[in-house]
Amino acid sequence: MPHTLETLAAKWRDAESVVILTGAGLSTASGIPDFRSPGGRWSRYQPVTIQSFLADEDARREYWQYKGETWQVILAADPNPGHHALARLAQAGRVDLLVTQNVDGLHERSAFPPDRMINIHGTDSAVICVSCERRAERALAQELWESGQAIPLCECGGPWKPATISFGQSLVQNDLSRAFDAAASCDLFVAAGTSLVVGPINEMFSMAKRAGAHTAIVTGSETPFDAHADCKIEDPLQEVLPALAEDLLE
Ligand SMILES: [Zn+2]
Repeated sequence: MPHTLETLAAKWRDAESVVILTGAGLSTASGIPDFRSPGGRWSRYQPVTIQSFLADEDARREYWQYKGETWQVILAADPNPGHHALARLAQAGRVDLLVTQNVDGLHERSAFPPDRMINIHGTDSAVICVSCERRAERALAQELWESGQAIPLCECGGPWKPATISFGQSLVQNDLSRAFDAAASCDLFVAAGTSLVVGPINEMFSMAKRAGAHTAIVTGSETPFDAHADCKIEDPLQEVLPALAEDLLE
């Protein structure tokens, strides 16, 4: 095991409170591309804000065109060894809180304990009616879209929207507070597969750092916090996380 990984495993073993933030880089090994990456199949779609979704039928149709296609990619994907390693660590009580920016549901599908995780940007696995606020399984609305309804509608006549946090929409305050409180009181903070550029959730890094936590960034890309992290590991997550789990759970 390389030295930096050994150090991280040792810190993890000694930590009383471990907090993890995951991002798109964790799911690329599952075949889910970073949907917004330049030149990607989906980069032609302009983000639809919640304001235009509510106000404009064309925006709703365009949004569902994008969401309908990406859901088929998500459905075809499975959790990878990185997801499974995190789930095993959490099941063994080695993770206090996992905050994910991903909306693909792969942490849930890897049996990560649901009471120890937050989908800070919502989830694609459910839909919410923007009129009556009813929540339903994604499949219900997706079937309507696949059967030809350009904008799937709730029984009340309002449009269904995948339960992700859209551009222009604020995060769930309770979730954000819980994430920040956990970061500000942990011993070890691990950013996994995230380039830490999306606010406000990237502030977790600085909060953990200020609280005196050991900070690790495990991602192939550069982040604005690399110079401040106690360790930076650029090897693939689907190798690093299982190696850590094996070391910690032996
Ligand atoms: Zn409704």
